[in-house]
Amino acid sequence: MKIGFIGLGNMGAPMAANLVAAGHEVTGFDVAGVTVEGVEQASDAAQAAAGRDAVITMLPNGDILRDVYSEIVPAGQEGAVFIDCSTVDVDSARAAASLAEDAGLLPVDAPVSGGIGGASAGTLTFMAGGSDAAFAKAAPLFEIMGQKAVHCGAPGNGQAAKICNNMILGVTMVATCEAFALADKLGLDRQAMFDVVSTSSGYSWSMNAYCPAPGIGPQSPADNDYVPGFAADLMLKDLRLSQQAADSADAATPMGTRATAYYEAFVSDGGTGKDFSAVLPRLVAKHRDDAD
Ligand code: NAD
Repeated sequence: MKIGFIGLGNMGAPMAANLVAAGHEVTGFDVAGVTVEGVEQASDAAQAAAGRDAVITMLPNGDILRDVYSEIVPAGQEGAVFIDCSTVDVDSARAAASLAEDAGLLPVDAPVSGGIGGASAGTLTFMAGGSDAAFAKAAPLFEIMGQKAVHCGAPGNGQAAKICNNMILGVTMVATCEAFALADKLGLDRQAMFDVVSTSSGYSWSMNAYCPAPGIGPQSPADNDYVPGFAADLMLKDLRLSQQAADSADAATPMGTRATAYYEAFVSDGGTGKDFSAVLPRLVAKHRDDAD
């Protein structure tokens, strides 16, 4: 396939490199002038999109996505699949998709989980929203860049699935850290607490696979001084997107709202650049009347 790739940052660059390694002809563009070995450089986003069978975007946010789509949609070749892998708000994803659909293109919003490691290894999970025809055309590319793609329904539903998942993750991580901090103060050994909870009804990915307590459970960022992993700043971005979506859809998300406020306080008070599980040492240092 001839593929255009726009946004060659931490995630986009290795994803584009995997498409090149699989034998595709990739033309790329990034405002920062980033180059990737084997990717031909275009002079702007429209040139990267023109005449391609597939155009992939991996951008920071919904406003930038809307700007880039206003440039690349008019340049798109009829029937081309336009895959947006950025994490953005549901409304921007749906606006970009309808612009593309009106122009005879096949849009798919396909945010990812798996992070920079997954992007490099080609083991990302894609959560995709779009028509059956658009998903079918994107699927072989998902297979190269990832290990799993779930078709979640209409445009925007990939973003909806991503923020619902990450809202659960933010809430369960804070809850897991709270439980460790309480256990400490009750004199309950962390290993004993892990052994019980990880095999009882309190288990979760945060506890079992990504335990926030150093030296407990499988290797996790807690064992590496909370170097991310998944940065608290990115968790805050996703929690804010969940709250924007909840406002827009008039959905009650009391715990999501609390987790968002908690990560806002954490990030603005020394947590920036740390893994999102580093709320554990913060909670341990706090008192009941000084919870945030
Ligand atoms: P990044 O900031 O490293 O990359 C974004 C790139 O987009 C940058 O290189 C930037 O120069 C480029 N860009 C910005 N505006 C542009 C424009 N108008 N035209 C062309 N290029 C433009 O970010 P990243 O870590 O690669 O993340 C990309 C997206 O993936 C984000 O939406 C992020 O939330 C999501 N995501 C990131 C991770 C992660 O672990 N880094 C995990 C899952 C999802």
